[in-house]
Amino acid sequence: MPSRLQPVGILLLVLLGCGTHDNGSLRAPTNPSPSPGGVAAPQSLPPGGGSPAEAESPSGTSPVTAITEVLPCNDGEDACAEPPQEDTTTSVPTTAPQNPPLANPADAEAYGETEQTADCPGLDGPVPFAPLTKKPVCPPYQRPAVFFSPHPDDESLSMGGAIAEHVAAGRAVFVELLTHGDKSGILTVLGNGKSCDWHEGTHQYALSVEAFGMARVQEFLAATARLGVTGVVISDFGDQNLTPSEVESRISWWLRNGGEGLSLKGTAGGMDDQSKTGVPAHVDHTALAEALRRSGHNDLRLYLSYYAQSGLGTFDATIDLTAKGFCDEKRAALAEYGRWAPAAGRYAIGKHSMGTLLTAVSEACKEYIQKVATPAQ
Ligand SMILES: [Zn+2]
Ligand SMILES: [Zn+2]
Repeated sequence: MPSRLQPVGILLLVLLGCGTHDNGSLRAPTNPSPSPGGVAAPQSLPPGGGSPAEAESPSGTSPVTAITEVLPCNDGEDACAEPPQEDTTTSVPTTAPQNPPLANPADAEAYGETEQTADCPGLDGPVPFAPLTKKPVCPPYQRPAVFFSPHPDDESLSMGGAIAEHVAAGRAVFVELLTHGDKSGILTVLGNGKSCDWHEGTHQYALSVEAFGMARVQEFLAATARLGVTGVVISDFGDQNLTPSEVESRISWWLRNGGEGLSLKGTAGGMDDQSKTGVPAHVDHTALAEALRRSGHNDLRLYLSYYAQSGLGTFDATIDLTAKGFCDEKRAALAEYGRWAPAAGRYAIGKHSMGTLLTAVSEACKEYIQKVATPAQ
């Protein structure tokens, strides 16, 4: 994909990935607090999901004050250009379930496509499967909450706390991954022979695109396992190429098979609300949000992360996960994107691509809601 750089004033230079948003490093401000007037005070998210109407607050636009860098795609240097800092994303709680290592990330059989075609009586596929055991999860589902993630890491960055909260509420919680995120420039970084100051060894792993995507899926599986989800569905609709109709096919599956009390969640559109900052929208995120809005489902919620965290986007409410007690789960999920264990098929791809944001999100432990307009009846 060609660079989509557009200058936005003098102060703002925005990173644009080569399709996936998560290339290079996003320089989030050290103080992620929303600007005055931007958001409401922390408010309660009913575990049941429900209408987003409770997330009432004046919508505000944060002034554009952050400086982010333009990083070209496939620039290996920049993946490790950050100064040394305390790594808060790679400590993995020993009490949490351990992710089974994937010895050969090129083994497409290893992560779930087989499981997703497993039979549930009368059910068309793909069928959700448990991220650790890989066993299919058949209906009926207990008030299912389904969180859609365009790429590996979006679910933990934007919605990890909300996912954990819904799990704690006793609901059946599913995360749907829509693409493998295999267009990320980190594919090149992993084979560039260089090194980073925060992990051992060098980048000597010239993965195929497929293997790279599988490695990203491994991070996703490990993260969703940390969040305790009931099941995941992994689609590969095509990084940088997701369409609303593809997402709608999955929404329809849930509308047909989810049962009572279905909540639909997802990341907000256009790499959060970046259109307000003058930056072109990310096609995959836009497609997801558009499909969710089009569904007209009466229980929808969209979450932001990137621009909300950096103070650039607009949002309607802030969830304080510290107050709600779901920071540990969110941080554990984020930490899975920083695990460097090549022998086990783990390359810390999330941290290589979004290290600064991962750290900022982990430290802030907040999530941001964008209200969904009630569709016309
Ligand atoms: Zn994404
Ligand atoms: Zn590295």
